[in-house]
Amino acid sequence: MVETQQRSRSSSRTSSRSGSRSEDEEEPPVTVMRAELRGHRPVVVSEVPVYVALRDKDGRFFEDKGGCGNVRYRWMRGPVIKPCIFHQHKMSQFRDVAKTFRCYCSKECFLRGWYNLPQHMWGSKPDIDEVEEPPIAEWVEVASSRSYCPTQQDIDRPLRLDIIALHKDGKDSALGGMSITTGTVIPTPKEARTRRMISNGGTFNAEWLSKQFKVMNWNVLADLYATELVYPYCEKWALSWNWRKHLILKELKSMAADIITLQEVQKDAYDDWFRPQLAEAGYEGIFQQKKREPIFHRGKYTAEGCGTFYKTTRFKRVDKHVVDYDKLTASEVPLVLPENHSGAQDKGLARFTKGNIGLAVILEDLHIKTTHSSQATGPNGGHVLCVVNTHILCDPGAADVKLWQAHLLLQTLKQMPINNMPLLICGDFNSTPESAVYEYLRRGQIRPDHPDLANDPCGILKQLNLRHSLPMATAYETCNSREAPYTNYTEDFKGTLDYIWFSPDALAVLAISQVDDESQLTQETALPSSSKPSDHLSLVATFMFHDAPPEGGEAQPGGGPPARSSGLPGAEGMSVGAQRANPYHMGGVNPMASSNALSGPGNDGLYMASGALSFAQYL
Ligand SMILES: [Zn+2]
Repeated sequence: MVETQQRSRSSSRTSSRSGSRSEDEEEPPVTVMRAELRGHRPVVVSEVPVYVALRDKDGRFFEDKGGCGNVRYRWMRGPVIKPCIFHQHKMSQFRDVAKTFRCYCSKECFLRGWYNLPQHMWGSKPDIDEVEEPPIAEWVEVASSRSYCPTQQDIDRPLRLDIIALHKDGKDSALGGMSITTGTVIPTPKEARTRRMISNGGTFNAEWLSKQFKVMNWNVLADLYATELVYPYCEKWALSWNWRKHLILKELKSMAADIITLQEVQKDAYDDWFRPQLAEAGYEGIFQQKKREPIFHRGKYTAEGCGTFYKTTRFKRVDKHVVDYDKLTASEVPLVLPENHSGAQDKGLARFTKGNIGLAVILEDLHIKTTHSSQATGPNGGHVLCVVNTHILCDPGAADVKLWQAHLLLQTLKQMPINNMPLLICGDFNSTPESAVYEYLRRGQIRPDHPDLANDPCGILKQLNLRHSLPMATAYETCNSREAPYTNYTEDFKGTLDYIWFSPDALAVLAISQVDDESQLTQETALPSSSKPSDHLSLVATFMFHDAPPEGGEAQPGGGPPARSSGLPGAEGMSVGAQRANPYHMGGVNPMASSNALSGPGNDGLYMASGALSFAQYL
């Protein structure tokens, strides 16, 4: 909330602003009781979110959404307040009128900073009158509507919203109104920095580049959870949805993935922002809300969930399926925990009913046709793949629930009519690479002495057959021999929780996006920050479908996926891939090398698993 000042309450006797009115002026039909501008600092091109509560003469409170005829609105634009020379996002409070002639956000900032400011950055000495007599603060009316969308002309200027109560005859009342002044207007965020893509060392050829598709996964941090309490280190305005939504969209657009899986998409943000904005960029979206009681947030009930988007020029939706962990829990828990000892079932149901969901969307590739009967083929002859987007429970003390949800997800996938279909399982698993969830997905089983299995308060884990035979690998580990060092970076927790899992027997991963260095992430303590809109980092990977096995070659009976032998599914997947012309294990002309877009070997040791690796910038 920005500074709110009640200009004249009904009880107040001051009416100096409209001097002509008498002190015993009649109270207007409605009085402004509360007014808030959400977002702290208005952002150019984003309508300033306004909340106004009124009270009528009978004492009833109501929110004015613009329909009340007893008040009028007026937006005023104030004088330029220069930002701090060191802190571009902070308004200045002080001006050095002796040496540097620059503005500073605080006295401390000035005292600490001025002698560090190189002389070429000093300002020029202003006219003597200008220093001694600052220009009178002039406020100019810019709008007479309830809503206002700041423009370029408003940058570095504060805005003031006057809410003026009206008399029955429509004249302004000196009583019952309110004014709110904002911080200075900030420009919309700059274009997102293009993130470098890193290949795992193979050389690209033109054919592969034409076949690849790009997948992006990101927990975008719902506005519901973006509170100052949780992220006290983030500037308030940078935490506001009005700012973050632009940065998120810019990052989505700059990566231009063909498939985008987002978590923590708030329902209203999906309707008002993601769906229309991404539709304009050529995407179609599907949203699935978590099964939780809606939360009252900023004046309305809302909830968040998973949103999956795909480029309609590349993919066509064939089917979708909601993985409702609660519904599955309700039917599975009684089977796993028979009602023989008292309350076990009820306890299990209560513990495992958390509202999390998964969303499976089956997409057909409109560009790349299948070439072999063993490959899953869509109605139009294209490759099909099943894209799962999920957000597993966050609670750090509930490893058993996370494992249960992962288990339900795999059970569901086994039962879905997706035999032989390549899988992409993207999401926020709230599980590190050391967790049982990770081990289960990655290896198809969990070693019996895994510490997560010891935490089994309902005794459900020991009843489960925690085995599966879906070969699964992650994009980052496959491409880079290790997971991203962190995908979630807050003051309290830094680690890897998000993954793009895929079927290595059907898909090859060509490249992954570089994750920011720690030095960038700590610039403003942690995430989110003024340039990074979520506490999670996005993951991006490019894939292509493996070529069909040679006819009469290693035929797969029944066209099913190859049976898993023991060992690492990922490693096995890679070797299967190698036999099937995995792009990374073959030579070939590199079309990017000549266009100077590929530089290598990389100078970024972090991402170099061996000396042979190089990275590609082909965004
Ligand atoms: Zn400063």
